[in-house]
Amino acid sequence: MKKIDHLGIAVKKFSVSIPLFEKLLNTTCYKTETVNSEQVNTAFFEIGESKIELLEASGPESVINKFIEKKGEGLHHIAFEVTDIEKEMKRLAKAGFTFVNEQPKEGADNKMVCFLHPKETNGVLIELCMEKNN
Ligand code: ZN
Repeated sequence: MKKIDHLGIAVKKFSVSIPLFEKLLNTTCYKTETVNSEQVNTAFFEIGESKIELLEASGPESVINKFIEKKGEGLHHIAFEVTDIEKEMKRLAKAGFTFVNEQPKEGADNKMVCFLHPKETNGVLIELCMEKNN
């Protein structure tokens, strides 16, 4: 794993949270993007080498709705950048970790992503992400 690519934070409303994080980080949101397969809107902020990804539900079946119902707004996942996502998934599978999605899938921000099951990672949802043109 190369570095922490971003932290994902679940929020109820972008109209409230984007201005809030712009004020907090003293930078502007550089991109918003909808991931239709997950019914999630994403908003990105660059902070040094890492990013903050705000996550808002874009539909009633969104995982973000379920997350906020259970835990409230807050930290949703930690994303690590990897150079070879399939290789890294094989390494982790051998080490006993399981995945929410068995195959890497298209995520936001031009990335292939996969999520580790939080039951084996002390309750923290872990995302692996790889730049698509690698
Ligand atoms: Zn993410």
